[in-house]
Amino acid sequence: MRRVLTVAALVMVSGTIGLRADDKTATRWFSHVEALANDGMEGRNTGSPAHKRAAEYVAAQFRKSGLEPAVGGGYIQPVPFKTRKIIEAESSLALLRDGNIEPLKLGDDTNINLRVDPAPTVEAPLVFVGYGLHIPERGIDDFAGVNLKGAMVVYVASTPRSLPGPLQAHFGSAGERWKMYQAAGAIGTISIANPKSMDIPWERSTLARLQPAMSLADPSLDEGAGQNLSLTMNPARADKLFAGSGHTFAEILALVDAGRPVPSFALPARLKATAKVERSTVESQNVAGILRGADPKRRDEYVVLSAHLDHLGIGGAINGDSLYNGAMDNASGVAALLEVAASLHESGTKPARSILFVTVTGEEKGLLGSSYFAARPPVPQANIVANINTDMFLPLFPMKLLMVLGLDESDLGQDVRATARAVGVSVQADPEPQRNRFVRSDQYSFIKFGIPALAMKVGYEEKSPEAAIAAKWTAERYHAPSDDLRQPIDRSAAAKYVEVVRDLSVRIANRTDRPKWNDSSFFKRFAMGATH
Ligand SMILES: [Zn+2]
Repeated sequence: MRRVLTVAALVMVSGTIGLRADDKTATRWFSHVEALANDGMEGRNTGSPAHKRAAEYVAAQFRKSGLEPAVGGGYIQPVPFKTRKIIEAESSLALLRDGNIEPLKLGDDTNINLRVDPAPTVEAPLVFVGYGLHIPERGIDDFAGVNLKGAMVVYVASTPRSLPGPLQAHFGSAGERWKMYQAAGAIGTISIANPKSMDIPWERSTLARLQPAMSLADPSLDEGAGQNLSLTMNPARADKLFAGSGHTFAEILALVDAGRPVPSFALPARLKATAKVERSTVESQNVAGILRGADPKRRDEYVVLSAHLDHLGIGGAINGDSLYNGAMDNASGVAALLEVAASLHESGTKPARSILFVTVTGEEKGLLGSSYFAARPPVPQANIVANINTDMFLPLFPMKLLMVLGLDESDLGQDVRATARAVGVSVQADPEPQRNRFVRSDQYSFIKFGIPALAMKVGYEEKSPEAAIAAKWTAERYHAPSDDLRQPIDRSAAAKYVEVVRDLSVRIANRTDRPKWNDSSFFKRFAMGATH
């Protein structure tokens, strides 16, 4: 009896010792998630007083972890925004066809995308352009044979599978698309989602349409500038656009899904729009602190660790809940950064280069806070050597695999491979490039300035039970009020993820050379165009 007890006690003791560091990390990580995603934080909407409280919490944690204030003696970088709210009752959309007027119902058929400032009235022809891509270097020209001058461009928000994942991500982004359409003389856009790659069903996404949308107040940083009207079409109602064209949306989608070429053709209808908008301005907060490097030659160079702090605030109710807590999206990522900073402080780690921690605002409004930060950083932009971003890393099951977006684009891939190996996890590239994740979070704001970047998540094998858990999470909780503190979370995966981010950032900060894009990388061109 006694002997058995002793053995059991020994096992428990050694178990506790083995888990202690992990446990502490996991517990503190979750306490930050709770602090940022409790109901009192009201969903941390960009520009809200609640977001400001969350930013002050982050600043206080940065101070506690001994980070140097990065912004003129403080931690907070104010970001000015323009905001726009639709007045639906005074707005209208209609198709003019064969002398008939067919109204489109806002909220059900289509929505006005207010990230773009709409003109008060628009009347224009509609031209369908398939995938809507014009990439001469790849031999892709969906504009051949159609005239986009003065037109609303109608496209399926998909990209051909013949393009490598990062290019699909880049050219499929709203900003790159508008550059192409504007160059061809178009005045606006109608985007139709491919139902197969919609993260959020129309019925849920349309609930957000009455929320204010935002753009950066500085027009030189506004990538929607020059567009008169941007609409998103409910794919279930897309045939309203195709009526009389001899084509159906189902037929178009079948071509897209088969990876076949999609025709471009003028639609036999004109769009007539009246948009009544309430405009205002608001300020929100990026928060930045520096772990100063030790090497006199490299301490003025920076590895930027980023995570967005904002979420969706209070919006349309789902199952009686209208508070979008954003626990995984992205209190979890901010908490990971806070825990990395704390653990580097406690261990007294002094990397050669400096590590700049930043939580950004306005991600949910279109990567706005990071765009602002990357364009107007509090340190010389040319001295930022890399960006590691964490957005919704989803610790829903034990981390055996690390999913890395941008894995094969720069030599940061070698750093992340070595780091993962050392903590016993394997890396995987993005298994679903069609979801455009490489350009859908804040790392992209740095990439556009030529800064090598990675984003990471807890990975899973395709068609595995873990893949099913992740898919279920996306379908049920992504951008829904149920992304809250009451969901199942695997804290050990969070602790392991924190370890990876910490070791990776120190490793990069200690490199003798600066990280570089791979020669084969499409994104290398941004570095060549940059000033450094
Ligand atoms: Zn989000």
